[in-house]
Amino acid sequence: MKKIPVCVLGATGMVGQKFIELLSNHPWFEITFICASEKSQGKKYKDAMIWRMDTPLSEKIANMIIEPCVPSNLFRIAFSGLDSNVAGQIEEDFAKSGKVVISNSKNHRMDQDVPLVIPEVNGDHLELVKTQKYKNGMIVTNPNCSVIGLAMALKPLVDVFGVEKIHVVTMQAVSGAGYPGVSSFDILDNVIPFISGEEEKVETEPLKILGTLCNTTILPYKMTISAHCNRVAVVNGHMACVSVKLKKNANSFDIVQAMTSHYKDLELPSSPKVPLQYFEDERHPQPKLHRNLEKGMQVSVGRLRKCPLLDWKFALLSHNTVRGAAGCALLNAELLVKKGYIKEVLK
Ligand code: NAP
Repeated sequence: MKKIPVCVLGATGMVGQKFIELLSNHPWFEITFICASEKSQGKKYKDAMIWRMDTPLSEKIANMIIEPCVPSNLFRIAFSGLDSNVAGQIEEDFAKSGKVVISNSKNHRMDQDVPLVIPEVNGDHLELVKTQKYKNGMIVTNPNCSVIGLAMALKPLVDVFGVEKIHVVTMQAVSGAGYPGVSSFDILDNVIPFISGEEEKVETEPLKILGTLCNTTILPYKMTISAHCNRVAVVNGHMACVSVKLKKNANSFDIVQAMTSHYKDLELPSSPKVPLQYFEDERHPQPKLHRNLEKGMQVSVGRLRKCPLLDWKFALLSHNTVRGAAGCALLNAELLVKKGYIKEVLK
């Protein structure tokens, strides 16, 4: 198969760099265009940012020139890691000009005709793109970085027992704030109990993701979520402590069974073989030990026990820039290709 040319919007940022890392040697996609803000435009990539990934940057990308965020004929898909202050309009312009935009930003997530997708959870919601106003282009979004792990843990419970209420406390890594993000003076020896706009996203996005596609709309799942979001001194990997009230009675065996038997390998280049793992060891999961499982695409759950307020509680972990951002976006693009949506757009 000839590789599909792709662009990375916001290529210099935390998510943009992760896109560049994950797209290197991708079997279906090839980076042909990179964009960022005015301050980076016209520079070689290597001179416009400090590479913060663990793997070496290829010579080819290092020497690519950063372009303005304007659509061109040099690519079909645009992966967006743009700052949300500018993402909304730029992504719309790209979709209008016939590009397939896969976004990490909050701007279009809750638009009625925009799918908010975690491929293993609600890949069927991609149907919504057929209702979009763009002639050949489209916008597909992936959820907030804390929501992705949460929704993946909840989906099996929703399907098997039904979920009524959730109380969730997140402990979010500093890379979630981009680069340079929170200053080291503020975060070391500290926990910051506020992340702007985050609790609203955690309380609303899962309702859309877990909702049902009905003709051309998503009927949101009915449940109540209360979220506390905290920034902690971890580099990568968002943790969450979750309490759930279920609609049906369940025992711990049934819950673990539901979570671990629900997901199958989607058999896409970026899909994990085991998307969700349950740990019996009560000290697990931990960011330092488990965030990179399945190349950062696995969600880890542990410490399932009775909750005296709701029914059950557990801990969960997911890698925020991989499963929670660039990795999920890449998987969305792969699923679009597999389902034939991108071929359609290429016609
Ligand atoms: P970041 O490190 O601050 O990167 C922002 C990117 O946007 C940079 O490439 C920056 O380019 C570019 N940019 C800023 N202003 C621009 C403008 N006026 N025109 C064009 N490009 C502009 O942020 P991030 O953490 O990567 O997050 C990117 C997006 O993903 C955000 O919407 C964020 O909410 C979302 N997200 C982040 C995570 C995470 O874990 N970090 C997870 C999920 C979703 P310059 O370098 O040239 O300024």
